[in-house]
Amino acid sequence: MSRRQLIAGNWKLHNTLADSVALASAVRDKTAGTAAEVVVAPVFTALTMVRDALSGSHVALAAQDVYWESKGAFTGQVSAPLLKDVGCTYCIVGHSERRQFFGESDETVRRKLRALLAAGIAPIFCVGESLEQREQGATVGVVLGQLTAGLAGIPSDDLGSLVIAYEPVWAIGTGKTATPADAQAVHAALRTQLSHERGADFAAKTRILYGGSVKSDNAATLLSQPDIDGALVGGASLVPDQFVAIVAATR
Ligand code: PEP
Repeated sequence: MSRRQLIAGNWKLHNTLADSVALASAVRDKTAGTAAEVVVAPVFTALTMVRDALSGSHVALAAQDVYWESKGAFTGQVSAPLLKDVGCTYCIVGHSERRQFFGESDETVRRKLRALLAAGIAPIFCVGESLEQREQGATVGVVLGQLTAGLAGIPSDDLGSLVIAYEPVWAIGTGKTATPADAQAVHAALRTQLSHERGADFAAKTRILYGGSVKSDNAATLLSQPDIDGALVGGASLVPDQFVAIVAATR
């Protein structure tokens, strides 16, 4: 089964409104005609203006996080229905920076996944091991554990839009990248687990992105691996020519 490759730019806590619109416009114009799916995730405050800059284009809008309740006395939070209202079709969930700095757990990830799916937003669900876990040989166990825990109790029929992102924590923002062979091995393990838990068809159609210091010069070899269906890009997504080159490296 062929899976359309997806390149998502996670802008993290960067860019003013003007910077965000300029970057979104450059991505829109310079990736036109690509066969890949292209997604950008600005800060919450820039979502509306980036949506307008992307209107009618091939580039989709993502949020970087969500809260699981839809409304109420939850000061500072943003809900899935509000992300839908602003035009998001994707949302990142369980990013390692959320897990590391903001107390994200498998349980909160699962709640967020449910909320997004109920609102009709496709989750980009991040899993990944720390350097210590990798050095202990625990990589596959850790990421499969995060996968299973995050999806626990969610019916497969609700997970049609699910995108998974394998992001080794030690590779994020460090300039270190998993070798294409190492990344492929983890992606294959994730897909095998999906097949066991959800069936072969589900596993064959679910996209698994790689993230962790993807740049223009390493994108092509990573993206040529059979189980790597795209990339979640942090630092390089802030540099239009870098991000455009990564999109151009899709197969
Ligand atoms: C990320 O933030 O998801 C990421 C992969 O960052 P970077 O590309 O900078 O490592």
